[in-house]
Amino acid sequence: MQTNCPHCNKEIDSVFVYFNTGALRRINEHSAVMDENLSGFFHLGWHDHDSNHPSVDIEKDAQNGQIEMYFCNPDCMENWFVTQIRKLK
Ligand SMILES: [Zn+2]
Repeated sequence: MQTNCPHCNKEIDSVFVYFNTGALRRINEHSAVMDENLSGFFHLGWHDHDSNHPSVDIEKDAQNGQIEMYFCNPDCMENWFVTQIRKLK
C-alpha cells in the first residue's frame, strides 16, 4: 500500500480516502476477476492535433490493471486532482 499522501506527503493514517479504478477480466455473466495480464493506465490530455499541448500520465502500467491511490482526506484528494488538471494548462 502507498504510505504517503501524494498531495501533502504526510504518512497515511488508518483513516483515509481513496479512489480506485481499473479493469477486471469478465469470467461469466455475473463475475469479473483481477488478471495479472492487465495493465492499467490513467492519462489526462487534450483531444486535438496540437502536439504542443501538455498531458499527464498519472499511471502508465498498473499491475493487474488496478489503480488505487490514498489521500489523507478529501481536501488532499481534491487539491491533488486540481494540481493534475492544472498541468494541462
Ligand atoms: Zn495529504
